[in-house]
Amino acid sequence: MAKKQQKKSSGLAPEKGELAMIEGIIEGSPDAVGVAVVQYDCGCRKMAAVDKNGDPASKIIMYRDNADSICEQCKDDNGSYMRMVKQFIHWKSPEPDNTTQQMIIAKVLGTEQ
Ligand SMILES: [Zn+2]
Repeated sequence: MAKKQQKKSSGLAPEKGELAMIEGIIEGSPDAVGVAVVQYDCGCRKMAAVDKNGDPASKIIMYRDNADSICEQCKDDNGSYMRMVKQFIHWKSPEPDNTTQQMIIAKVLGTEQ
């Protein structure tokens, strides 16, 4: 008898909404090798797919977990980098080699973190 495993939200996967967004962006961007994610102090995020040259492979998407739209502050300053708390690239699998990753990170996120 097949038992369907039910996933309980135990608070272990707070980034589920984020991951779903990332996967959606990758699906819609055939050239993407990853998605650059920028997180702001208010909880909103900005994401954009990048291609193997570190160039944008999608338009920039801003979103907020469990909300219909981004917060008032982000609407106001469009996600100022002054309020940035975290930035990283979520690589599509198979991930590009390390050299390519470093090149893209430097180009997309900049060297100063
Ligand atoms: Zn915000």
